[in-house]
Amino acid sequence: MIIIHKRNHNISRKKISKNALKILFRLNKSGYQAYLVGGSVRDLIIGNEPKDFDLATNATPFEIQKLFKNCRLIGRRFQIAHIIFKKEIIEVSTFRGNTKNKQIKKKIFKKKEKLGILLRDNVFGEIEEDAERRDLTINTLYLNIFDLSIRDYVGGIQDIKKKIIRLIGDPETRYREDPVRMLRVIRFSVQLNMRIERKTAIAIPKLAKLISHVPAARLYSELNKLLQTGCGYKAYKKLKKFSLLKRIFHFPFLHYNKRINLLINTLTIHVLKKNDKKIKRKKKINPAFLWSAILWYPYVFHIEKIQNDKKINYKDAAYISLKIILKKASYILSIPKQIIFAIKEIWNIINIIKFNKKKIFLKNKKNKKFHEIYKLYILKKNIEKKIIFSEI
Ligand code: ATP
Ligand code: MG
Repeated sequence: MIIIHKRNHNISRKKISKNALKILFRLNKSGYQAYLVGGSVRDLIIGNEPKDFDLATNATPFEIQKLFKNCRLIGRRFQIAHIIFKKEIIEVSTFRGNTKNKQIKKKIFKKKEKLGILLRDNVFGEIEEDAERRDLTINTLYLNIFDLSIRDYVGGIQDIKKKIIRLIGDPETRYREDPVRMLRVIRFSVQLNMRIERKTAIAIPKLAKLISHVPAARLYSELNKLLQTGCGYKAYKKLKKFSLLKRIFHFPFLHYNKRINLLINTLTIHVLKKNDKKIKRKKKINPAFLWSAILWYPYVFHIEKIQNDKKINYKDAAYISLKIILKKASYILSIPKQIIFAIKEIWNIINIIKFNKKKIFLKNKKNKKFHEIYKLYILKKNIEKKIIFSEI
């Protein structure tokens, strides 16, 4: 372990959330070790604004709860304390231990354990063990609030300086324990513009298939962080490069012919680029847009297919297809209800535009939402023209 003293870095208390400081001071005064840790320390060193401030301590969740009235414990296996303030929630987690040494085997866990998935990440431990079980070296720096010194157990400072994304421990084992780490590696490499260390990188395509073990809700949330926070296009390209894209989107991408895949891909990339630009200009994006674009062609081709097979009209076929395609997508990604609702709305409006273009356009001229969807419709049309034209 090395200690980086205050004079050797540029973090000041001014840049840290007042609420986080309060918690750290109270825990320390009550005799516990407590540190600012994770993404916030990483971002403060780099000079970026942290998204949230996570704390780690040797106080148990119960002990934390005793110290803070505004504390709620969450999670069943490994409890984490949420300290709730008006505008902010600070997550305080107790140092996690090394499960291999301490836990008793339970039968029900055996099957998943065989695959290497970490199920018993639920024992308290020492700070050194807590450091070992974090994901990346750059995410494993512990800031002491009293003297502003940083504890670095795994070479995180060096990696930040050299701009390297490196998993702690053996990459294959760590990806097997939790395949979401593959997506986190990609995310931080694009967000922070850092290079992925060789071993950390080569294990990803090898183990990409493990993505199918990630619960649908977690996958949805991680993909939104990857694709809808300003570096979506770069992240999409990297997902492809590391063979993750076809694993994540085996539906829709593996079910169609080359031309349809090209359409899905082109529309997705256009929307990603537009979203990235908007986010850079600090404009809000509608997260449903991207999902509606990714799933648009599967929806359209499903409509065509059942129109032919069942000899029904477009409207009925569209109604049935919408339900089926969104259900299929929900097996992989648990898309929240309000987003599903928004996708349905976008598709329905596109269908209306398709059949009554001029009339509808004039009627909704001043409606902002309509305009956005209208632009998506035009974009789609142009892509179709180009792709079909290029085939002739
Ligand atoms: P950001 O909040 O900017 O997206 P972060 O690194 O803070 O990035 P969080 O999801 O807030 O990410 O997690 C906080 C910390 O918890 C991480 O910095 C890391 O140390 C640890 N962590 C998060 N996810 C994992 C994981 N899948 N495996 C091991 N450690 C993890
Ligand atoms: Mg964080």
